[in-house]
Amino acid sequence: MAVAITFNRTPDLPPGNAAAVSPLIRRLVAPNPSAFTFQGTGTYIVGRGKVAVIDPGPMIESHLEAILDALRGETVTHILVTHTHIDHSPLARPLQRATGAPIWGCGPHGSGKHEQGVKVEEGGDMEFAPDRQLGHGDVAEGAGWTFEAVHTPGHTSNHLCLALREENALFTGDHVMGWSTSIVSPPDGDMSAYMASLNLLLKRDDSVYWPTHGGPVRATKPFVAAFIAHRHEREAAILACLRDGIGRIRDMVPRIYGNTIPPQLYPAAARSVFAHVIDLAERGVIAADGPVGIEAQYRLPR
Ligand SMILES: [Zn+2]
Repeated sequence: MAVAITFNRTPDLPPGNAAAVSPLIRRLVAPNPSAFTFQGTGTYIVGRGKVAVIDPGPMIESHLEAILDALRGETVTHILVTHTHIDHSPLARPLQRATGAPIWGCGPHGSGKHEQGVKVEEGGDMEFAPDRQLGHGDVAEGAGWTFEAVHTPGHTSNHLCLALREENALFTGDHVMGWSTSIVSPPDGDMSAYMASLNLLLKRDDSVYWPTHGGPVRATKPFVAAFIAHRHEREAAILACLRDGIGRIRDMVPRIYGNTIPPQLYPAAARSVFAHVIDLAERGVIAADGPVGIEAQYRLPR
């Protein structure tokens, strides 16, 4: 019986339109809908008059224009970035050129601890470097708003959530998305780090999550608890495969996912299963014949 997750797939306004979603927060979505981004990248504007922009988005000129249009007569004092995927960070520099605002946030893209012969995962923004890197607990303050950085590695090793103190809100980036579970793809994606970062959120008391993709999440802890349960369920499915002698990831994916996702997403699903397999192997729950890798044969320990 699959874990039920109460996703929020409420449609955004069309690209080009900023919506006021709370007293301090506006959101506008970029025109980059896909199987990975839902309706597109949700860029947030926080404050009035002197504002912060969170995750400017992908390198799309019309989205830059939409951000600048939404901010006519206002000043951008901070550009904040949660992580270095190409749908989040590349527009930070063009926005900086247009506004002069410094870029704060996550560090440069990491390579992750599991190389496995793979240099980088797809979709990393290797150009990104912040003007001011935020570590866990660091604060960025502006006119009427205060952010605290919450380091949440897993989706990427450099992922930050940003806590807005004035509204007890957490901008969750891609760590916790509204519309779907997150992709954890080695080498930079790391399942054990991701699980620890989900558990970190359970220790907090955020009233609302504002994810990049999908609508807000107000039942924050039950939502995160369901994500954790979903991952435990996925682990159990992998172990069931091994018990039935299905030891290769490419054979596990159709059995685990079946028709719940379109077959063109099977390669992405394989990366996710691989992330679980690395974690299970590190914990000694499963073993590999030879080095741990996406093509390796896995089994239960003897
Ligand atoms: Zn991402």
